[in-house]
Amino acid sequence: MIDLRSDTVTKPTQKMRKAIFEATVGDDVYGEDPTINKLEELAADMLGKENALFVTSGTQGNQLAVLANCSPGDEIVVESESHIFFYEGAAISALAGVQPRVVSGQNGEMKPLDVRNAIRSQDIHFPDTSLICLENTHNRSGGSIVSFDNMKAIYDIAQTASIPVHIDGARLFNAVVASHKKAADYTQYCDSVQICLSKGLGSPVGSILAGNKQMIQKARKWRKRLGGGLRQAGILGASGIISLTEMVDRLQEDHVKALRLADAIENMEGISLVNKPETNIVIVNIEKTHKSNEEFLEELKKKGVLAVSFGEGLIRFTTHYDVDSNDIEQAIDIISKVV
Ligand SMILES: *Cc1c(COP(=O)(O)O)cnc(C)c1O
Repeated sequence: MIDLRSDTVTKPTQKMRKAIFEATVGDDVYGEDPTINKLEELAADMLGKENALFVTSGTQGNQLAVLANCSPGDEIVVESESHIFFYEGAAISALAGVQPRVVSGQNGEMKPLDVRNAIRSQDIHFPDTSLICLENTHNRSGGSIVSFDNMKAIYDIAQTASIPVHIDGARLFNAVVASHKKAADYTQYCDSVQICLSKGLGSPVGSILAGNKQMIQKARKWRKRLGGGLRQAGILGASGIISLTEMVDRLQEDHVKALRLADAIENMEGISLVNKPETNIVIVNIEKTHKSNEEFLEELKKKGVLAVSFGEGLIRFTTHYDVDSNDIEQAIDIISKVV
């Protein structure tokens, strides 16, 4: 089966399994796991932030950022198709007691003026705006890269208003590699950032939340409250270190595979490309096949390809470490047969 549902399906590499087997560990709730401490220092350094925290998932990292920055009754600015708004079960409301102020974006970018207008003024009727969230790369826009200009303009507005900015950077390293920049070039325009170790970077479990010392201290306490304080977590951290030191540059291969898939799909009669992929996500419109998403996905599956439904008439394919270029050629063949 060629599994293009998500880059989360990657299995740990042999090297990761060996590092996991040999990891030096301690009780991380006491701050005594050397492998986790090493991972957190490395991550903070790469992301240009004072401190970092290993967390169980991207969702937990994002939610800790909200919990650490906001109080119940606050409002946070989120993009209308963002993961935090779209895919986290309204956790911002269920856990942090905040409501979303939704701003629509284009290719994942909110207009800076719209963000400025969304920030609440002081008025007894209004909630306080206490966080602005960006997403880079932007999942529902097909892994598009949010530009430095856009990030800087929003960050300037946020700073003027004394409101922190959080980046949901589940796939930030895809943007880093595709644009030949450093992670810190992006994260200079935020106060906190979450990155996933378990997507294109190949680890079995985990994300990183990075930010200033005070914010990470609060997030650490919230992580414990949520039951996310882990003990010999170095078992997982050992793999995370390999993700950050050896799996970043290879994301480029995933982008090449996504482009190849997109080019082939562009030439197929009956389906069309929604986006020219900038990173590892390809979104395809299948409306002209007159098949439902479920039918289309079922036929793909019968022939050996897995993908996911991404809204009315839309299918998402995601490339990753565990599909090679031969698999992509085979997938192209199967997709064209189904079409
Ligand atoms: C996958 C993803 C997350 C959440 O990660 P989980 O580890 O699945 O909780 C958050 N944001 C974006 C943009 C994602 O793609």
